[in-house]
Amino acid sequence: MTIDTPPAGSRGRTLLGELFPGARLIVAANRSPFRLTFGVRGEERWERPAGGVTAALDPLLRQTGGLWVAAEPGEPQELKVPPEDPTYNVSVLGVPEEVYRGYYVGYANSGLWPLCHNLVERAHFRSSDWVAYRQVNRQFAARIASEARPNDLIWVHDYQLALVPGYLRQFGVSGPIAFFWHIPWPPTVVLRLVPERKMLLQGLLEADWIGFQTEESVDAFAAAARRELGVRSQRTAHGVTLLYQGHRTHVASVPISIDVEKVEELARTEYAEHLLVDLRRRWKLGEDSVLLLGVDRLDYTKGIPERLEGFSRLLSRYPSLRGKAHFLQIAVPTRTEISDYRRLALSVRRKAASINRRFGEPGWQPVRLIEHNLRLERLVVLYRLADVAVVSSLYDGLNLVAKEYVAARVDGDGSLCLSETAGAYHELRSAFPLSPLSSERIAESMARAIFASPEERRERMQSLRDAVQRNTVDTWLSRVLTGVRGSVDDQLSGVKETPV
Ligand code: UDP
Repeated sequence: MTIDTPPAGSRGRTLLGELFPGARLIVAANRSPFRLTFGVRGEERWERPAGGVTAALDPLLRQTGGLWVAAEPGEPQELKVPPEDPTYNVSVLGVPEEVYRGYYVGYANSGLWPLCHNLVERAHFRSSDWVAYRQVNRQFAARIASEARPNDLIWVHDYQLALVPGYLRQFGVSGPIAFFWHIPWPPTVVLRLVPERKMLLQGLLEADWIGFQTEESVDAFAAAARRELGVRSQRTAHGVTLLYQGHRTHVASVPISIDVEKVEELARTEYAEHLLVDLRRRWKLGEDSVLLLGVDRLDYTKGIPERLEGFSRLLSRYPSLRGKAHFLQIAVPTRTEISDYRRLALSVRRKAASINRRFGEPGWQPVRLIEHNLRLERLVVLYRLADVAVVSSLYDGLNLVAKEYVAARVDGDGSLCLSETAGAYHELRSAFPLSPLSSERIAESMARAIFASPEERRERMQSLRDAVQRNTVDTWLSRVLTGVRGSVDDQLSGVKETPV
């Protein structure tokens, strides 16, 4: 299979050169875009963990060269990637097992993750986890500081690494630092439950530019900085400028996106056409069948049990759908070290089984659960196959699946039911809205999507496709790089207006 479109990131490469002449890009993100393991005979095995950040930044780094710093429990690794034609370096920090647990399983994913998604009872903050979190953040900063030249652009990602900008400054790095916070920023009353909130804010405010997925998060972050640290702030055309201890940080809403052209191309390949026909036949999807699809990590923020309950209500309410409607849920196991996640997997399985017991008939099982990761090449085929994609996150920074579904619908058909509390809803307003805590409302949203006229479906899909095409991963990269340049220039010129 060949992909003819220019790779994502090509516009980013040009802009990086124009806006930061001579700069190398140094990315810090918890997860490495490549992993190297060895087989029993010592043969190399390369893995490429998927994910939004990797999909956006790996193509850019391939073109610009540079460094990606990541962390894993165990031994450190220095890699030249991609293995087939190395263009950039990956430095995987080796973190002692116990420390990694405290940092990643503990502070980041049992503390900040649930808290930032406003699921306060699930959040736990332990002092020992905080110590580990600080230690790993320092380790990231030390590695970057040992490498960075004065004008290199350092771009730090997400809630695992909030302290890295602060440590970088302590280690004497004076060059531009950008930070992208991928998950929601919580309201100030919720943030107040984090014992170390002031230190998190102080660390972040050493960045020159901070990007969020939504305006709501920008406003919540500015409010927290004002309230917790007495930071002065000023609205600008692009967001908010914050002034703290003589340092300015520009904060903006720049929602991440996907490589739209790549998804479109994958959805049009011969392989995709072939698999479409094959799956229709194997799953016995006839003319009057309706396929609903959910694609998620098995995370409690995604609202999967509520969604299945909504489907159950749909079948109760519309008996005509029995024997015809199928719900396919891709539920990729994640963070299984945390008991909440293991419990969720059980409850999703139980829910699916109980719906199948209640409604199933010979030759028709309403819910099909697939509990492993699928490659994008296969996912796009499911996107094309699904009459309705259901994204019912309770809270979600953005939700790339919603955008991928729309991009894959090169036929202009298909419907998207989208949670009003997913970041993507701000851009994808032509989706069928869905209220994720109410199974009646979920069922209602699914019914609207299923029974919409072909004209309404096409109109909505066209409008969704326009929205996705307006903001591709290249647009996102351009907006980030332009934003960072603007804030560094303001810093250098000492800026005229003073935030109040
Ligand atoms: N994904 C994948 N294989 C799967 C399920 C999901 O590659 O079997 C990808 C999906 O294509 C998307 C990402 O995982 O790019 C999920 O991103 P999203 O923003 O929807 O949720 P997150 O997991 O980041 O919370």
